[in-house]
Amino acid sequence: MPAQTLDEPIRRFREFLGPGSVITDPVRLRTYECDGLTHHRAVPAVVVLPESAEQVAAVVRVCDEHGVPFVARGAGTGLSGGALPRTDGVLIVTSRMRRILSVDLANRRAVVEPGVTNLAITEAVRDQGYYYAPDPSSQQVCSIGGNVAENSGGAHCLKHGFTVNHVLALEIVTPQGEIVELSAADPGYDLLGAFIGSEGTLGIATKVTVRLTRAPRNVTTLLAAFDGVERGGQAVSAIIGGGILPSAIEMMDALAIEAAEAAVACSYPEGAGAVLIVELDGPVEEVAHELGEVTRICRESGAFALRTAADPAERAAVWKGRKSAFAAVGRISPAYIVQDGVVPRTALPEVLASIDRLSREHGIRVANVFHAGDGNLHPLVLFDDREPGAGERAELVSGRILDLCVEYGGSITGEHGVGVDKSRYMTKMFSDDDLDTMQLVRCAFDPRGLSNPGKVFPTPRLCGEVPGVRRGVHPLVESGRAEQF
Ligand SMILES: Cc1cc2nc3c(=O)[nH]c(=O)nc-3n(C[C@H](O)[C@H](O)[C@H](O)COP(=O)(O)OP(=O)(O)OC[C@H]3O[C@@H](n4cnc5c(N)ncnc54)[C@H](O)[C@@H]3O)c2cc1C
Repeated sequence: MPAQTLDEPIRRFREFLGPGSVITDPVRLRTYECDGLTHHRAVPAVVVLPESAEQVAAVVRVCDEHGVPFVARGAGTGLSGGALPRTDGVLIVTSRMRRILSVDLANRRAVVEPGVTNLAITEAVRDQGYYYAPDPSSQQVCSIGGNVAENSGGAHCLKHGFTVNHVLALEIVTPQGEIVELSAADPGYDLLGAFIGSEGTLGIATKVTVRLTRAPRNVTTLLAAFDGVERGGQAVSAIIGGGILPSAIEMMDALAIEAAEAAVACSYPEGAGAVLIVELDGPVEEVAHELGEVTRICRESGAFALRTAADPAERAAVWKGRKSAFAAVGRISPAYIVQDGVVPRTALPEVLASIDRLSREHGIRVANVFHAGDGNLHPLVLFDDREPGAGERAELVSGRILDLCVEYGGSITGEHGVGVDKSRYMTKMFSDDDLDTMQLVRCAFDPRGLSNPGKVFPTPRLCGEVPGVRRGVHPLVESGRAEQF
């Protein structure tokens, strides 16, 4: 769509949002040209900063009226280019929708606006002994709206579940600009479940009702050092196979440890080729018993050093290295790709060995830091962007890692979403029929394809192009068979 056709929508936005909430200045627009995945960039035609659901709805209605695509953006920490703007569209940023609207401890729930950060929810209820369980490493800055769109996870989702397990209801603005509620208590189809993880393609979340969880009284954190990832991987399988469900099992390999040490001096055991962080929570006796078992399993799997955090300060020190790892890698490499894939836990040792082979074959270093407990790999593929061809080789290795995930029966994404970056890999997991079926869901919410178009699906199509879907009269109605339903 040529830029001038946005003149009228922009005029309308200024009218009901006020001029201070509509950005068209090219320099300011550049702030929004990418999310955490910086190699996809596009400057939006206009950015709007609504302060309420009604304002979001009004913006979306104008978009619908004029056939203008729109993209929601929270904090822009996404790692799959989900919030990548459209040069011919509107970027709807939720950063001014940051109110915690209510906290209801008796019913263990809070209602918040979509721009509230993940950690702010916990901070609001921590003193009362509660927290919001899903804990992406980006939790200090990422928004709950973004978490909903990505069905975000985190280190403790192994035991406590992902965003989808902690969102009880949503208020959304549909792609037609209507404000509707979706609730876990609704009978019929699970539309709440369909919306969570839909990456902004089914509308915009404007209120989120989250479950609040009682903070565990007893938490024990164990750091185990191995000579390499293979033995660490064996320990992970043996722990879960032994019937123990830690709240977190995270693994870092030698390169990730090197980066974390350089950045935050986390003092992991010297000579470690891999470390496992195993966290246990629950009643005192249960935690003590499980700690004994995990210690035994780690030793039997070849751990040469084991350290249990004695107090919250030591626990924080153990986690510091892990939580800083993504950013820390920037210290040992000028550029890197953060990959996200899943493999069955039992395949971890083999897949990690294959990643190592790929890395050596292509002369590209790969640091592994990941949620080992649920087989969610986060290989960090390092390269020097000044070296000709290095970026292409890194891309190749990164793609081959996803091939491995699929070959082993896993997934091309664990928690970072498909976005724009991985839409081309969707065909590795899904047939054309599968994708057409998914597109039917999309079309039911957004028949005009205006809500975050170009994301998730490899071959964006209009709803009329999906087999079996026609605009206007449904084929069953046309043929007279609809009465049978
Ligand atoms: C250092 C770092 C560590 C990370 N660690 C983790 C981790 O441990 N686990 C994990 O899961 N992710 C992690 N991430 C990825 C990222 O933080 C999450 O995907 C997060 O949920 C994105 O939130 P956001 O507010 O930044 O969303 P954005 O990046 O702004 O948007 C992400 C997607 O959500 C859509 N969206 C945003 N707001 C709304 C809304 N209100 N309604 C509908 N759609 C919306 C956007 O259109 C886009 O498709 C990490 C990222 C970084 C940079």
